[in-house]
Amino acid sequence: MKKVSLRASFAIIMALLVIVGLVVYVFRFVKDGEKWALYFDESTSKCTYTLRDRDGTVLAKMGGGSRTYAESSKVRTACYQLIGDFNGNVGTGALQSFSRQLSGYNIFTGIEEGEDVDLKLTVDADLNVKAYEALNGRSGSVLVANYKTGELLCMVSSPSIDPSKPPSTLPDGVYINRCISSSFTPGSIFKLVTLSAAIENIDNLFQRTFTCNGSIDVKGVTVTCTGHHGNQSIEQALANSCNCVFGTLALELGADTLGEYADKLGLTSEHKLDNITTAAGKYDKDESGSAALAWSGIGQYNDLVCPYS
Ligand SMILES: [Zn+2]
Repeated sequence: MKKVSLRASFAIIMALLVIVGLVVYVFRFVKDGEKWALYFDESTSKCTYTLRDRDGTVLAKMGGGSRTYAESSKVRTACYQLIGDFNGNVGTGALQSFSRQLSGYNIFTGIEEGEDVDLKLTVDADLNVKAYEALNGRSGSVLVANYKTGELLCMVSSPSIDPSKPPSTLPDGVYINRCISSSFTPGSIFKLVTLSAAIENIDNLFQRTFTCNGSIDVKGVTVTCTGHHGNQSIEQALANSCNCVFGTLALELGADTLGEYADKLGLTSEHKLDNITTAAGKYDKDESGSAALAWSGIGQYNDLVCPYS
């Protein structure tokens, strides 16, 4: 009797293990099936696609046993982080984020042989080249969007490389698209956040006259301006990008209100861009009446914003 019950227990354990294994397999198949299919089918060239810019310039092509990037080295370099590479080094490139559409993958049928996919991005490769040249070797990013349609017209991250001829020593951060995966000190652009908060929370903002003598003293700490702007309306202060006025407004508004507006405007949260999760920004709240709080309303202190946000 004891023997039978031991055998039964063993059989139940084995059955449970098989069920758990099946559940794990199905989960992995749904989640990673596309990657598995691409891994095998790319090598046998089943996958056929062309990735183009908005004007039709070929940015990447796969098919007929070959994988190629854009013809021009300048385009390849200026579009490197935007497109990514066939090896997947840039995790946020279009080749990765649109892999399902490009491969024509279907969870039930896998990758159909001979299916020719043609995908156009909204970005203009020539604009990317111009922006990359304007960066002139500096680290940084350029992102241009059509504010009416939301289309991204230019997306450049520097430093970059030509994926067809990668150098033996790679520049730091070359695999990162700074437009979407990094956050930076925003500087004066953050004054628009402070202004939004001021318009909705400070009475008579548009009737007030603000005076700039080149700096303000906040508890013994000097917050400097880039000029001596004298008497100004809020409109003039914005046009002058006056630190004294926006530092003063930050002190009046307080960190909680400024933080609330940074949150409301989506600057402190992650966003989704074609399956890619963008970097979140940050607004640190300093104590009431401090110079750090004044600087935080000017886009300095610990403020961080992702260019895409
Ligand atoms: Zn000023």
